[in-house]
Amino acid sequence: GVFLLSCFIAKGQDSTIKSSVKNVEAKVDSVLALMTLEEKVGQLVQYNGSWDLTGPASEMNNKQKEENLKAGKVGAMLNVLSVEATKEAQKLVMENSRLKIPLMFGYDVIHGYTTIFPVPLAETASWDLEAMEKTAEIAALESAANGVNWTFSPMIDVSRDARWGRIMEGSGEDPYLTSKVAVAKVKGYQSNDLANPRSIAATAKHFAGYGFGEAGRDYNTVHIGENELHNTILPPFKEAAKAGVATFMNAFNDIDGTPATAHKTLQREILKKEWDWDGFVVSDWGSIPEMIAHGLARDKKHAAQIALNAGSDMDMEGGAYESSLVSLVEEGKVSQEYIDDAVKRVLRVKFKLGLFDDPYLYANPELLENISFEEHRNVARDVAKKSIVLLKNENDLLPIQDSIKKIAVIGPLADDKDTPIGNWRAQGEANSAVSLLEGLKNNMNKDVEISYAKGADLGMGERSFLMPLKINETDTSGFQEAINKASEADLVIIALGEDAFQTGEGRSQVDVGLAGVQQELLKEIRKVNKNIVLMLINGRPLEITYASENIPAIVEAWQLGSESGNAIADVLLGDYNPSGKLPVSFPRAVGQEPLYYNQKSTGRPSNPTHVTYSGYTDEKKDALYPFGFGLSYTNFEYGDLTISAEELTPGSPIEVSFSLSNTGEKEGKEIVQLYIKDIVASTTRPVKELKGFEAVQLAPGETKTVTFEINEEMLQFYTANEKWESEAGEFEVMIGGNSRDLQTVKFSLKK
Ligand code: BGC
Repeated sequence: GVFLLSCFIAKGQDSTIKSSVKNVEAKVDSVLALMTLEEKVGQLVQYNGSWDLTGPASEMNNKQKEENLKAGKVGAMLNVLSVEATKEAQKLVMENSRLKIPLMFGYDVIHGYTTIFPVPLAETASWDLEAMEKTAEIAALESAANGVNWTFSPMIDVSRDARWGRIMEGSGEDPYLTSKVAVAKVKGYQSNDLANPRSIAATAKHFAGYGFGEAGRDYNTVHIGENELHNTILPPFKEAAKAGVATFMNAFNDIDGTPATAHKTLQREILKKEWDWDGFVVSDWGSIPEMIAHGLARDKKHAAQIALNAGSDMDMEGGAYESSLVSLVEEGKVSQEYIDDAVKRVLRVKFKLGLFDDPYLYANPELLENISFEEHRNVARDVAKKSIVLLKNENDLLPIQDSIKKIAVIGPLADDKDTPIGNWRAQGEANSAVSLLEGLKNNMNKDVEISYAKGADLGMGERSFLMPLKINETDTSGFQEAINKASEADLVIIALGEDAFQTGEGRSQVDVGLAGVQQELLKEIRKVNKNIVLMLINGRPLEITYASENIPAIVEAWQLGSESGNAIADVLLGDYNPSGKLPVSFPRAVGQEPLYYNQKSTGRPSNPTHVTYSGYTDEKKDALYPFGFGLSYTNFEYGDLTISAEELTPGSPIEVSFSLSNTGEKEGKEIVQLYIKDIVASTTRPVKELKGFEAVQLAPGETKTVTFEINEEMLQFYTANEKWESEAGEFEVMIGGNSRDLQTVKFSLKK
């Protein structure tokens, strides 16, 4: 009752803005026409809302920030973390500034707001686009009600290096899968109508190349050429732009000598001109003044000049635009035309969000009054169980058999209620997840005895929000209790992996194995009981070669969010037959990184008997578990491929079909994958590229025919002509349940 919308509607609006215009473009122009240069620059400035955080503009005190809000010198804020604070800030603008242009409020709503869903990499393992759209829709509603109208998500940086901590925030190594997820997320956050108070503006980030930091080091230099940029990095961004994503965020890294924030070709030529996209680009946090450290800008003013001219529209907490843009325009170093274009982009999004009609639209807790959080948790459990990947299951150890009467639940993450919440947890509370142990107890038959011992710590020392630093963990004092419990049990479930804050921004590692004494604990347990299910709870691909050779069952359970333990129980107990597939390759050794299935062939691809082939002398070159891999409790058999014609032309696609049978005893879902290889082309091409997938549900004994269309569009790439187009010639289409085990048939494209 307190936050009645009606009392804020149009309050203090300039009536000339409201009444004289019909469509968004006309409205934008009408507002722009009223603005002074100072007011225009104000729209391009974003302030951080939690005053005590240090940032490039942090030398400014709260009082000064307030004065600037009142003066209309700020266009957006981030990290304003309550309905009250949001309203307060909006009020400063609406009741004091001349033009009363409402603020946008951004926040990192990455995998849920109150209800926490699996981290993005995990969720992508479900390959369930509908589910991913749904979780974004719920995150939008929960955050919108609390004042957020703009999320800095989805992160759609293709990422192929397990050392990079932010691999957890994306959709993995494949541009096609990442593109599909990008579109699903944009649809979920924004719905079809940004003005709907339940939907919020999304951000495609980080434009571009951020996932390719050299050696997996966060913020590091990126060396990519045109070919890689266009074929691998840009496709998800292009799809997000097409799907109408409201904003883009640029990136901290430089690409081949040019910081993304200074990248005119990317921002002005490709994004805004070629893709004809009409939203605005926000810088990453302070990425404009960071160009001083890059050695590209002399000072803040120079940085502002470079960034704005390159098409970076809004300065996130960098303090560069607010201090310099006005004089840069007056000195003729930045054109009025560029300023107007940037301001129009910002205003356009604000109009689409409905903020000019109701600036307080997004701070309305009433929206949640009839919402069942239990329903949100059900969705969280559903997507979490679909995100789990069964990596190994020897002797059908899983699902847990009826004959098992005593289970020992072991490990540093077995009763951890916090780690599954993951990094970038928005308003997800600490220790609010269902732990694995709790999940088992909640869902397990009461006549099964469950014992628990932690056994060891993660080896990450005292966790602090900002940085868990690896310590030289040697404490094995908890081993004996764990060994005792394991030796008395019929089955051991051991949960190992990573701390919640071990992945995420700034969390690069040179080692991607199990930290501390975790593997030692596993080895000791194995000496007394070989019936072990290893549960991995982590945010990045891990190096688990020892476990894969010695432990009979391995389940990748990632950081699954609020309902983690219940979702894990669904899978362990067989209530849900696992269907997840890896969106990233798991390495045999960290030295293989960056590791990805869609690599180039090289001139010496595969002659392991010859020393001088493109591999390693001390390890195989392929993945331990490849992209697309994931087992089921049932078996799927692929029939032979048939192709409707051997040749396709641009107007007439062909079809590839095969039968898929469930030859096991349980109902199950197989994510069928289609890959294509361009055999000879004007540039070197990947050995295979995902171009389609479909989830096929089959009852035991059931067979279905699966058909995929192959059309000319699927064969397009960035050619030696520097164009996105197809080339006539021969191709292979490959079908299977992962990127390694595939059947192949040839076809050709005639043009
Ligand atoms: C991250 C962005 C994030 C921003 C605001 C930056 O450090 O790179 O992804 O959206 O902070 O929190």
